[in-house]
Amino acid sequence: MTKILVIEDEKLVRENIIDLLAAEDFDTIAAANGRVGLDLAVSQIPDLILCDLMMPEVDGYGVLTTLREEPVTASIPFIFLTAKSARADFRQGMDLGADDYLTKPFTRTELLNAITSRLAKKATLAKQVSTKFDAQTFSPKVQMMEMYLRRAIEREEFEQFLVYYQPIVDIHSGQIIGAESLLRWQHPELGMVTPTELIPLAESTGLILPISDWVLNKVCKQIKNWHNQGFTDLRVAVNVSGNQLKQPNFSQKIIHLLLANNLVPDSLVLELTENIIMPDINQAISTMNEIHSFGVKIAIDDFGAGYSSLIYLKQLPIHTLKIDRYFIQCIANDSQKAVITTALIQMAHNLNLHIVAEGVETEQELAFLRQHKCDAIQGFFFSHPLPAREFEKILFANKRLNLSNV
Ligand SMILES: [Mg+2]
Repeated sequence: MTKILVIEDEKLVRENIIDLLAAEDFDTIAAANGRVGLDLAVSQIPDLILCDLMMPEVDGYGVLTTLREEPVTASIPFIFLTAKSARADFRQGMDLGADDYLTKPFTRTELLNAITSRLAKKATLAKQVSTKFDAQTFSPKVQMMEMYLRRAIEREEFEQFLVYYQPIVDIHSGQIIGAESLLRWQHPELGMVTPTELIPLAESTGLILPISDWVLNKVCKQIKNWHNQGFTDLRVAVNVSGNQLKQPNFSQKIIHLLLANNLVPDSLVLELTENIIMPDINQAISTMNEIHSFGVKIAIDDFGAGYSSLIYLKQLPIHTLKIDRYFIQCIANDSQKAVITTALIQMAHNLNLHIVAEGVETEQELAFLRQHKCDAIQGFFFSHPLPAREFEKILFANKRLNLSNV
Protein backbone atom coordinates (compact mmCIF):
# COMPACT_ATOMS: atom_id res chain seq x y z
CA MET A 1 0.00 0.00 0.00
CA THR A 2 1.28 3.46 -0.84
CA LYS A 3 2.12 5.44 2.27
CA ILE A 4 1.68 9.22 2.24
CA LEU A 5 2.87 11.60 4.95
CA VAL A 6 0.88 14.82 5.32
CA ILE A 7 2.63 17.63 7.19
CA GLU A 8 0.16 20.46 7.73
CA ASP A 9 -0.41 22.65 10.79
CA GLU A 10 -4.00 23.65 9.98
CA LYS A 11 -6.09 20.92 11.52
CA LEU A 12 -9.03 21.25 9.14
CA VAL A 13 -6.91 21.15 6.00
CA ARG A 14 -4.87 18.24 7.34
CA GLU A 15 -7.92 16.17 8.23
CA ASN A 16 -9.56 16.89 4.88
CA ILE A 17 -6.52 15.66 2.99
CA ILE A 18 -6.20 12.57 5.19
CA ASP A 19 -9.89 11.67 4.65
CA LEU A 20 -9.55 12.14 0.95
CA LEU A 21 -6.42 10.01 0.68
CA ALA A 22 -7.86 7.30 2.94
CA ALA A 23 -10.92 7.14 0.67
CA GLU A 24 -8.54 6.47 -2.23
CA ASP A 25 -6.98 3.58 -0.28
CA PHE A 26 -3.71 5.31 0.54
CA ASP A 27 -2.03 4.52 3.82
CA THR A 28 -1.76 7.92 5.57
CA ILE A 29 0.36 9.44 8.32
CA ALA A 30 -0.34 12.91 9.68
CA ALA A 31 1.98 15.42 11.31
CA ALA A 32 0.82 18.72 12.80
CA ASN A 33 4.20 20.44 12.52
CA GLY A 34 7.53 20.23 10.73
CA ARG A 35 9.46 18.64 13.58
CA VAL A 36 7.03 15.73 13.98
CA GLY A 37 6.90 15.46 10.19
CA LEU A 38 10.67 15.03 9.98
CA ASP A 39 10.68 12.34 12.67
CA LEU A 40 7.91 10.43 10.90
CA ALA A 41 9.62 10.77 7.53
CA VAL A 42 12.78 9.14 8.88
CA SER A 43 11.03 6.43 10.94
CA GLN A 44 8.31 5.52 8.41
CA ILE A 45 9.96 6.27 5.02
CA PRO A 46 6.72 7.21 3.24
CA ASP A 47 6.34 6.89 -0.54
CA LEU A 48 5.42 10.54 -0.87
CA ILE A 49 5.23 13.65 1.32
CA LEU A 50 2.71 16.48 1.13
CA CYS A 51 3.98 19.42 3.15
CA ASP A 52 2.60 22.83 3.98
CA LEU A 53 5.01 25.67 3.25
CA MET A 54 4.01 28.09 6.03
CA MET A 55 4.31 26.53 9.44
CA PRO A 56 5.62 27.87 12.76
CA GLU A 57 9.06 26.63 13.91
CA VAL A 58 10.27 24.36 11.10
CA ASP A 59 8.57 25.53 7.91
CA GLY A 60 8.25 23.62 4.62
CA TYR A 61 11.65 24.77 3.37
CA GLY A 62 13.27 23.57 6.58
CA VAL A 63 11.57 20.17 6.27
CA LEU A 64 12.62 19.78 2.63
CA THR A 65 16.22 20.87 3.23
CA THR A 66 16.63 18.36 6.07
CA LEU A 67 15.01 15.54 4.09
CA ARG A 68 17.23 16.11 1.09
CA GLU A 69 20.35 15.91 3.26
CA GLU A 70 19.41 12.48 4.64
CA PRO A 71 20.20 9.63 2.22
CA VAL A 72 17.18 7.58 3.34
CA THR A 73 14.71 10.40 2.73
CA ALA A 74 16.51 12.29 -0.03
CA SER A 75 14.59 10.82 -2.93
CA ILE A 76 11.07 10.71 -1.44
CA PRO A 77 8.77 12.65 -3.81
CA PHE A 78 7.88 15.92 -2.11
CA ILE A 79 4.91 18.15 -2.91
CA PHE A 80 4.54 21.59 -1.35
CA LEU A 81 1.14 22.89 -0.28
CA THR A 82 1.09 26.66 -0.47
CA ALA A 83 -1.43 29.43 0.09
CA LYS A 84 -2.04 31.64 -2.95
CA SER A 85 -0.12 34.51 -1.40
CA ALA A 86 2.95 32.31 -1.06
CA ARG A 87 3.11 31.57 -4.75
CA ALA A 88 6.22 33.69 -5.21
CA ASP A 89 8.00 31.30 -2.85
CA PHE A 90 7.38 28.43 -5.21
CA ARG A 91 10.66 29.01 -7.05
CA GLN A 92 12.64 28.67 -3.84
CA GLY A 93 10.88 25.38 -3.08
CA MET A 94 11.67 24.00 -6.52
CA ASP A 95 15.30 25.10 -6.18
CA LEU A 96 15.51 23.17 -2.93
CA GLY A 97 14.36 20.08 -4.78
CA ALA A 98 10.57 19.95 -4.36
CA ASP A 99 8.92 17.85 -7.05
CA ASP A 100 5.71 19.79 -7.36
CA TYR A 101 3.47 22.24 -5.55
CA LEU A 102 -0.25 22.67 -5.05
CA THR A 103 -1.91 26.00 -4.36
CA LYS A 104 -4.59 25.90 -1.67
CA PRO A 105 -7.47 25.45 -2.03
CA PHE A 106 -6.95 22.63 -4.50
CA THR A 107 -9.50 20.19 -5.84
CA ARG A 108 -9.53 16.49 -5.19
CA THR A 109 -8.54 15.88 -8.82
CA GLU A 110 -5.58 18.27 -8.65
CA LEU A 111 -4.33 16.57 -5.52
CA LEU A 112 -4.72 13.07 -6.90
CA ASN A 113 -3.16 14.00 -10.25
CA ALA A 114 -0.13 15.51 -8.55
CA ILE A 115 0.29 12.43 -6.37
CA THR A 116 -0.15 9.90 -9.17
CA SER A 117 2.23 11.66 -11.52
CA ARG A 118 4.95 11.92 -8.85
CA LEU A 119 4.56 8.28 -7.86
CA ALA A 120 4.63 7.20 -11.50
CA LYS A 121 7.79 9.18 -12.14
CA LYS A 122 9.47 7.69 -9.11
CA ALA A 123 8.44 4.19 -10.18
CA THR A 124 9.84 4.70 -13.69
CA LEU A 125 13.13 5.98 -12.38
CA ALA A 126 13.35 3.19 -9.83
CA LYS A 127 12.61 0.59 -12.50
CA GLN A 128 15.25 2.03 -14.79
CA VAL A 129 18.01 1.88 -12.23
CA SER A 130 16.96 -1.19 -10.27
CA THR A 131 18.70 -3.45 -12.74
CA LYS A 132 22.02 -2.16 -11.53
CA PHE A 133 21.52 -0.80 -8.04
CA ASP A 134 19.48 -2.22 -5.19
CA ALA A 135 16.90 -0.21 -3.28
CA GLN A 136 19.29 0.85 -0.52
CA THR A 137 21.83 2.38 -2.84
CA PHE A 138 19.30 3.69 -5.35
CA SER A 139 19.00 7.21 -4.13
CA PRO A 140 22.62 8.19 -3.37
CA LYS A 141 23.78 6.51 -6.57
CA VAL A 142 21.26 8.36 -8.70
CA GLN A 143 22.17 11.58 -6.96
CA MET A 144 25.80 10.96 -7.68
CA MET A 145 25.04 10.22 -11.31
CA GLU A 146 23.07 13.45 -11.50
CA MET A 147 25.96 15.41 -10.02
CA TYR A 148 28.44 13.92 -12.49
CA LEU A 149 26.06 14.51 -15.37
CA ARG A 150 25.60 18.17 -14.43
CA ARG A 151 29.31 18.60 -14.10
CA ALA A 152 30.00 17.01 -17.49
CA ILE A 153 27.50 19.35 -19.18
CA GLU A 154 28.64 22.47 -17.34
CA ARG A 155 32.24 21.79 -18.27
CA GLU A 156 31.23 20.73 -21.78
CA GLU A 157 33.03 17.43 -21.33
CA PHE A 158 31.16 15.89 -24.23
CA GLU A 159 34.00 13.48 -24.89
CA GLN A 160 32.41 11.40 -22.09
CA PHE A 161 29.46 10.75 -24.40
CA LEU A 162 29.65 8.25 -27.20
CA VAL A 163 27.32 7.65 -30.08
CA TYR A 164 26.86 4.03 -31.14
CA TYR A 165 25.18 2.93 -34.34
CA GLN A 166 22.95 -0.12 -34.62
CA PRO A 167 22.49 -1.27 -38.22
CA ILE A 168 19.02 -1.46 -39.76
CA VAL A 169 18.91 -4.14 -42.43
CA ASP A 170 16.56 -4.72 -45.35
CA ILE A 171 14.88 -8.07 -44.78
CA HIS A 172 14.73 -9.00 -48.49
CA SER A 173 18.12 -7.94 -49.83
CA GLY A 174 19.91 -8.43 -46.51
CA GLN A 175 21.70 -5.11 -47.01
CA ILE A 176 22.38 -2.42 -44.42
CA ILE A 177 20.07 0.49 -45.23
CA GLY A 178 20.66 2.61 -42.19
CA ALA A 179 21.35 2.80 -38.50
CA GLU A 180 19.85 4.04 -35.29
CA SER A 181 22.18 6.22 -33.28
CA LEU A 182 22.27 5.40 -29.57
CA LEU A 183 23.82 7.41 -26.80
CA ARG A 184 26.26 5.96 -24.27
CA TRP A 185 27.89 7.70 -21.34
CA GLN A 186 31.38 6.60 -20.47
CA HIS A 187 32.14 8.24 -17.14
CA PRO A 188 35.70 8.09 -15.76
CA GLU A 189 34.40 6.89 -12.38
CA LEU A 190 30.97 5.38 -13.02
CA GLY A 191 32.12 3.42 -16.04
CA MET A 192 29.73 2.80 -18.91
CA VAL A 193 26.26 4.13 -18.05
CA THR A 194 23.54 2.49 -20.13
CA PRO A 195 20.81 4.49 -21.88
CA THR A 196 18.17 3.01 -19.55
CA GLU A 197 19.96 4.68 -16.66
CA LEU A 198 21.08 7.81 -18.44
CA ILE A 199 18.01 8.85 -20.43
CA PRO A 200 15.44 9.02 -17.57
CA LEU A 201 17.94 10.95 -15.45
CA ALA A 202 18.79 13.34 -18.28
CA GLU A 203 15.07 13.80 -19.05
CA SER A 204 14.01 14.45 -15.47
CA THR A 205 16.79 16.99 -14.90
CA GLY A 206 16.40 18.79 -18.24
CA LEU A 207 20.03 17.96 -19.07
CA ILE A 208 18.72 16.04 -22.05
CA LEU A 209 18.59 19.24 -24.12
CA PRO A 210 22.30 20.08 -24.29
CA ILE A 211 23.13 16.38 -24.69
CA SER A 212 20.61 15.95 -27.52
CA ASP A 213 21.91 19.01 -29.34
CA TRP A 214 25.37 17.54 -29.16
CA VAL A 215 24.13 14.13 -30.41
CA LEU A 216 22.22 15.64 -33.35
CA ASN A 217 25.24 17.63 -34.42
CA LYS A 218 27.56 14.64 -34.06
CA VAL A 219 25.25 12.34 -36.03
CA CYS A 220 24.75 14.85 -38.87
CA LYS A 221 28.52 15.17 -39.25
CA GLN A 222 28.85 11.39 -39.22
CA ILE A 223 26.18 10.92 -41.91
CA LYS A 224 27.98 13.43 -44.11
CA ASN A 225 31.24 11.60 -43.53
CA TRP A 226 29.74 8.25 -44.58
CA HIS A 227 28.01 9.77 -47.59
CA ASN A 228 31.35 11.24 -48.65
CA GLN A 229 32.84 7.76 -48.42
CA GLY A 230 30.31 6.53 -50.94
CA PHE A 231 27.47 5.22 -48.77
CA THR A 232 25.09 7.80 -50.14
CA ASP A 233 21.88 5.88 -49.45
CA LEU A 234 22.58 5.44 -45.77
CA ARG A 235 19.95 6.86 -43.43
CA VAL A 236 20.66 7.46 -39.77
CA ALA A 237 18.01 7.82 -37.09
CA VAL A 238 18.22 9.93 -33.94
CA ASN A 239 15.90 9.46 -30.97
CA VAL A 240 14.05 12.65 -30.06
CA SER A 241 12.99 13.34 -26.48
CA GLY A 242 9.79 14.99 -25.32
CA ASN A 243 11.71 18.01 -24.06
CA GLN A 244 13.30 18.50 -27.48
CA LEU A 245 10.07 18.22 -29.41
CA LYS A 246 8.52 20.87 -27.13
CA GLN A 247 11.23 23.41 -27.94
CA PRO A 248 9.71 26.21 -30.03
CA ASN A 249 12.79 26.36 -32.28
CA PHE A 250 13.24 22.61 -32.72
CA SER A 251 12.44 22.47 -36.44
CA GLN A 252 14.69 25.50 -37.03
CA LYS A 253 17.52 23.68 -35.30
CA ILE A 254 17.05 20.73 -37.62
CA ILE A 255 17.10 22.83 -40.79
CA HIS A 256 20.14 24.68 -39.53
CA LEU A 257 21.96 21.38 -38.97
CA LEU A 258 21.06 20.10 -42.43
CA LEU A 259 22.36 23.29 -44.04
CA ALA A 260 25.48 23.51 -41.90
CA ASN A 261 26.43 19.94 -42.82
CA ASN A 262 25.24 20.13 -46.40
CA LEU A 263 23.14 17.02 -45.83
CA VAL A 264 20.46 15.49 -48.02
CA PRO A 265 17.44 15.93 -45.70
CA ASP A 266 16.09 12.43 -46.15
CA SER A 267 19.29 10.89 -44.82
CA LEU A 268 18.22 11.98 -41.36
CA VAL A 269 15.43 10.16 -39.54
CA LEU A 270 13.93 11.43 -36.31
CA GLU A 271 12.49 8.72 -34.08
CA LEU A 272 9.60 9.82 -31.90
CA THR A 273 7.61 7.65 -29.52
CA GLU A 274 3.86 8.06 -29.26
CA ASN A 275 4.30 8.88 -25.59
CA ILE A 276 5.94 12.17 -26.49
CA ILE A 277 3.59 12.98 -29.37
CA MET A 278 0.26 12.30 -27.71
CA PRO A 279 0.27 14.65 -24.69
CA ASP A 280 0.19 17.69 -26.99
CA ILE A 281 -0.78 16.16 -30.28
CA ASN A 282 -1.58 19.41 -32.11
CA GLN A 283 1.71 21.04 -31.27
CA ALA A 284 3.52 17.82 -32.12
CA ILE A 285 1.80 17.52 -35.51
CA SER A 286 2.66 21.09 -36.39
CA THR A 287 6.35 20.61 -35.52
CA MET A 288 6.40 17.27 -37.32
CA ASN A 289 4.83 18.84 -40.42
CA GLU A 290 7.53 21.50 -40.50
CA ILE A 291 10.28 18.91 -40.19
CA HIS A 292 8.62 16.70 -42.79
CA SER A 293 8.36 19.65 -45.19
CA PHE A 294 12.16 19.94 -45.21
CA GLY A 295 12.34 16.32 -46.33
CA VAL A 296 13.53 14.80 -43.05
CA LYS A 297 11.97 11.38 -42.37
CA ILE A 298 10.03 10.71 -39.19
CA ALA A 299 9.71 7.29 -37.58
CA ILE A 300 7.36 6.25 -34.79
CA ASP A 301 9.50 4.35 -32.33
CA ASP A 302 8.47 1.51 -29.99
CA PHE A 303 5.14 1.22 -31.75
CA GLY A 304 2.60 -0.83 -29.83
CA ALA A 305 4.11 -0.07 -26.44
CA GLY A 306 2.50 3.32 -25.87
CA TYR A 307 -0.81 4.89 -26.75
CA SER A 308 -0.94 3.22 -30.16
CA SER A 309 -3.52 5.68 -31.30
CA LEU A 310 -4.43 4.34 -34.70
CA ILE A 311 -6.77 7.26 -35.41
CA TYR A 312 -3.90 9.73 -35.27
CA LEU A 313 -1.49 7.59 -37.16
CA LYS A 314 -3.07 8.63 -40.45
CA GLN A 315 -2.69 12.31 -39.64
CA LEU A 316 0.97 12.13 -38.75
CA PRO A 317 3.53 12.98 -41.45
CA ILE A 318 5.53 9.81 -40.87
CA HIS A 319 7.59 7.50 -43.01
CA THR A 320 8.39 4.55 -40.77
CA LEU A 321 6.84 2.49 -37.98
CA LYS A 322 9.17 0.63 -35.66
CA ILE A 323 7.48 -2.30 -33.94
CA ASP A 324 8.40 -2.46 -30.27
CA ARG A 325 10.80 -5.26 -29.34
CA TYR A 326 8.23 -6.70 -26.92
CA PHE A 327 6.17 -8.01 -29.84
CA ILE A 328 9.17 -9.49 -31.59
CA GLN A 329 10.64 -11.48 -28.73
CA CYS A 330 9.70 -15.15 -29.19
CA ILE A 331 7.18 -14.16 -31.84
CA ALA A 332 7.36 -17.54 -33.54
CA ASN A 333 6.04 -19.27 -30.40
CA ASP A 334 3.56 -16.67 -29.21
CA SER A 335 0.34 -16.63 -31.17
CA GLN A 336 -0.87 -13.32 -29.70
CA LYS A 337 2.31 -11.48 -30.59
CA ALA A 338 2.21 -13.11 -34.01
CA VAL A 339 -1.35 -11.92 -34.68
CA ILE A 340 -0.63 -8.36 -33.54
CA THR A 341 2.62 -8.07 -35.47
CA THR A 342 1.12 -9.46 -38.65
CA ALA A 343 -1.71 -6.92 -38.36
CA LEU A 344 0.77 -4.08 -37.73
CA ILE A 345 2.77 -4.98 -40.82
CA GLN A 346 -0.40 -5.12 -42.90
CA MET A 347 -1.63 -1.81 -41.54
CA ALA A 348 1.71 -0.09 -42.11
CA HIS A 349 1.73 -1.22 -45.71
CA ASN A 350 -1.85 -0.06 -46.23
CA LEU A 351 -0.80 3.34 -44.95
CA ASN A 352 2.27 3.29 -47.20
CA LEU A 353 4.66 3.17 -44.28
CA HIS A 354 8.01 1.44 -44.06
CA ILE A 355 8.00 -1.05 -41.20
CA VAL A 356 10.99 -2.04 -39.09
CA ALA A 357 11.04 -4.72 -36.38
CA GLU A 358 13.15 -3.83 -33.34
CA GLY A 359 15.01 -6.27 -31.12
CA VAL A 360 15.35 -9.19 -33.55
CA GLU A 361 17.58 -11.70 -31.80
CA THR A 362 16.97 -15.11 -33.32
CA GLU A 363 16.70 -16.79 -36.68
CA GLN A 364 13.12 -17.87 -35.89
CA GLU A 365 12.11 -14.26 -35.29
CA LEU A 366 13.77 -13.21 -38.55
CA ALA A 367 12.08 -16.04 -40.46
CA PHE A 368 8.66 -15.05 -39.14
CA LEU A 369 9.16 -11.40 -40.04
CA ARG A 370 10.43 -12.23 -43.50
CA GLN A 371 7.55 -14.56 -44.12
CA HIS A 372 5.09 -11.86 -43.06
CA LYS A 373 6.70 -9.23 -45.27
CA CYS A 374 8.17 -6.92 -42.69
CA ASP A 375 10.50 -4.48 -44.50
CA ALA A 376 13.54 -4.26 -42.26
CA ILE A 377 14.97 -5.42 -38.96
CA GLN A 378 17.24 -4.19 -36.24
CA GLY A 379 18.64 -6.27 -33.39
CA PHE A 380 21.40 -8.45 -31.99
CA PHE A 381 20.74 -11.14 -34.58
CA PHE A 382 22.49 -8.95 -37.13
CA SER A 383 24.51 -6.65 -34.92
CA HIS A 384 24.80 -4.95 -31.56
CA PRO A 385 25.08 -1.15 -31.55
CA LEU A 386 28.63 -0.34 -32.70
CA PRO A 387 31.05 2.56 -32.34
CA ALA A 388 31.20 4.62 -35.55
CA ARG A 389 34.45 3.07 -36.64
CA GLU A 390 33.18 -0.49 -36.18
CA PHE A 391 30.01 0.35 -38.04
CA GLU A 392 32.10 1.72 -40.86
CA LYS A 393 34.04 -1.54 -41.03
CA ILE A 394 30.91 -3.59 -41.65
CA LEU A 395 29.80 -1.06 -44.28
CA PHE A 396 33.05 -1.49 -46.16
CA ALA A 397 32.93 -5.26 -45.69
CA ASN A 398 29.40 -5.17 -47.14
CA LYS A 399 28.17 -7.32 -44.27
CA ARG A 400 24.75 -8.75 -45.06
CA LEU A 401 21.97 -10.53 -43.25
CA ASN A 402 22.35 -14.28 -43.59
CA LEU A 403 19.11 -15.33 -45.28
CA SER A 404 20.17 -18.82 -46.32
CA ASN A 405 18.19 -20.56 -43.58
CA VAL A 406 15.06 -18.42 -43.53
MG1 LIG B 1 14.68 4.30 -31.08
